[in-house]
Amino acid sequence: MPQLLEGKTALILGVANKWSLAYAIAQAFRREGAALLLTYQGERLKGPVEELGGELGAARVFECDVTKDEHIEKLPGVIREHGRLDAMIHSVAFANREDLSRPFIETPRAGYLLAQDVSAYSMVAVARATAPLMTAGGSMTTLTYLGSTRVVPNYNVMGVAKAALEAAVRYLANDLGPSNIRVNAISAGPVKTASARAVKDLSTLLEKAPERAPLRRNCEPAEVADTAVFLASDLGRGVTGNIIFVDAGLQLLGL
Ligand code: NAP
Repeated sequence: MPQLLEGKTALILGVANKWSLAYAIAQAFRREGAALLLTYQGERLKGPVEELGGELGAARVFECDVTKDEHIEKLPGVIREHGRLDAMIHSVAFANREDLSRPFIETPRAGYLLAQDVSAYSMVAVARATAPLMTAGGSMTTLTYLGSTRVVPNYNVMGVAKAALEAAVRYLANDLGPSNIRVNAISAGPVKTASARAVKDLSTLLEKAPERAPLRRNCEPAEVADTAVFLASDLGRGVTGNIIFVDAGLQLLGL
């Protein structure tokens, strides 16, 4: 069977460990024949992500803290050593734990700006740095969550950041469409990862979802990953500016 991403090179930001959605995406991209360029945030993750990159046969593993302009400015030089870029996965988000649990109205300016910077503005900055390398067109995909449009308890400042991220997807899709670069977001259902554990009562969400979700189960990281493959492949060539739900149908519900 032909591989869907054969001959393509993908930059994936956000692998922290084996539970990361970015790791599931990297596995699926590798299965489909893509060359992988992986980034990690800082020294703390260098060893673990290099090890995961080795297991995945990644072509390159390097540091990129998305809050640092100098790291983003270095992206094109590193990527260019591997030729053209075809896909970019932005699977990065952060908010202070206390801003996720206190009432939203009490969010301080610094915590609000931090969540926006890491979780929303970084998509714009990375898109700007990587678009010129997509000389044959390409696909950019970010990860979002239902808390962008609905009130989800304890999602708070991150819900507002995801709303900005989703709006950024639409504006980026419009800017980059003439270069045949598509920009989309996958809205994943709850999955137990390091970031998700910062959301208080996530375990309750994970327990309740299978009772109510139309598919009567939680979504799997592999399902999120296969949707990312579809978007990055030629099968997704007509799809841009979309928020695609991969959540076992949870977003349909009014309660
Ligand atoms: P994860 O494994 O913790 O991934 C989040 C990644 O963001 C980590 O690699 C983290 O690195 C990285 N990051 C944080 N600050 C950064 C910075 N300044 N520069 C570069 N990287 C930085 O958790 P995940 O659940 O897979 O999250 C991936 C994406 O999926 C996020 O956008 C998240 O909001 C979204 N999402 C998750 C769920 C869910 O239920 N898990 C549902 C919907 C959407 P460090 O570990 O070093 O901080």
